[in-house]
Amino acid sequence: MRITFKRVKCVRIAIHPPIGEVRVSAPYWMSRPQVELMLAEKQDWIHAQQEKILKRHQALEARVPPELRHLQPAERLRFQKLMWRTKLHNAVPELLYPWMQRLNIEQVSWSLRYMRTRWGTCNPRRKKITLSLTLGQFDIECLEYVLVHELVHLRIHNHGPDFKAEMDRHIPNWRAIQRTLNPKI
Ligand SMILES: [Zn+2]
Repeated sequence: MRITFKRVKCVRIAIHPPIGEVRVSAPYWMSRPQVELMLAEKQDWIHAQQEKILKRHQALEARVPPELRHLQPAERLRFQKLMWRTKLHNAVPELLYPWMQRLNIEQVSWSLRYMRTRWGTCNPRRKKITLSLTLGQFDIECLEYVLVHELVHLRIHNHGPDFKAEMDRHIPNWRAIQRTLNPKI
């Protein structure tokens, strides 16, 4: 666990993939023992988050093609990103245009980005969705779910009942797909 004293207003705890490394930012006015005490109080929560991150990492690790497993992590990731990008560049347009018609969306632009903590993002104002490159390691069904999720966000900006009803209507098994993407402990 690494504690850094910074110009922040309160203690911030960040837990990083892949193994759940904990980094803490604390304000200058706090002493190290004070910060440590606070962290001790939050230990159960920290462990739960770490376990979640680790579990997700292990689930992803199981999806690495055998021929890439012997590579160093950085090199492996480089190959994976290339493979994912190629796959998604072909797969996204084939899914996107029929879904735009079905959802009555006239204009949207899309891009791919390597994101480690989210599957997709949506900017309704700019009519733009971004999909995580890491989706390339999953079945097309997962990609389709994230794509539709973000397209629905163009109109409904939260995950409330309206959003869920819309998802139920279009992808009835979306909850199961979500569990594949975000395995629970
Ligand atoms: Zn969402």
